[in-house]
Amino acid sequence: MSSRAHNKKSDTLHDLFKKYAALELHIQRIITGATGHYCAECTARCCKEHFCKESIESPFLTTLVKKQKMVYHAKNGWMSPSGCRLAYGRPLVCYDFFCDAISDSFSFQATNLKEIVREFVSIGNRAHGASHLICIDNVDIISSTKIDTMLKRINTLKMRLITLSLTKSCIQCTVHK
Ligand code: SF4
Ligand code: SF4
Repeated sequence: MSSRAHNKKSDTLHDLFKKYAALELHIQRIITGATGHYCAECTARCCKEHFCKESIESPFLTTLVKKQKMVYHAKNGWMSPSGCRLAYGRPLVCYDFFCDAISDSFSFQATNLKEIVREFVSIGNRAHGASHLICIDNVDIISSTKIDTMLKRINTLKMRLITLSLTKSCIQCTVHK
């Protein structure tokens, strides 16, 4: 690969990390808004250190985690009394489970969270061969075409979230009622 092509690829890879983290932050805000009060009062927290661990085992997630300059706790992982310490770079399993209390809640269903999360998790599908982005040992082997595909998926979901929040604002607005 020429040095120009190499630089271009590292720029798009950098863009992927940046945009993935920004999207995850956006989704986290929606999740916290819809589920935060349930989790804050929960006495049977579903987080476990062995789930947290994927974030320090996956090279892609590790890069995102390192940016947050926090120390992983051998017993508690990212768990803290106020919830998860990771703002982004969370393992996908953390987006896989919502307990019944949350799944049945109006706020969860009204925000269409299950579908949003499913789309978020699928962004990294087949990033290299059959492997998901999170499972790739060396992110440098991901082709520019695949990186572009993931960036497009990120953008599509981001636009969807913006449309959703605009729709929500319009529903709540009283100016034109
Ligand atoms: S998702 Fe449900 S089980 Fe897990 S911490 Fe929140 S309220 Fe508790
Ligand atoms: S949400 Fe955070 S604390 Fe909970 S299992 Fe995932 S990484 Fe660990």
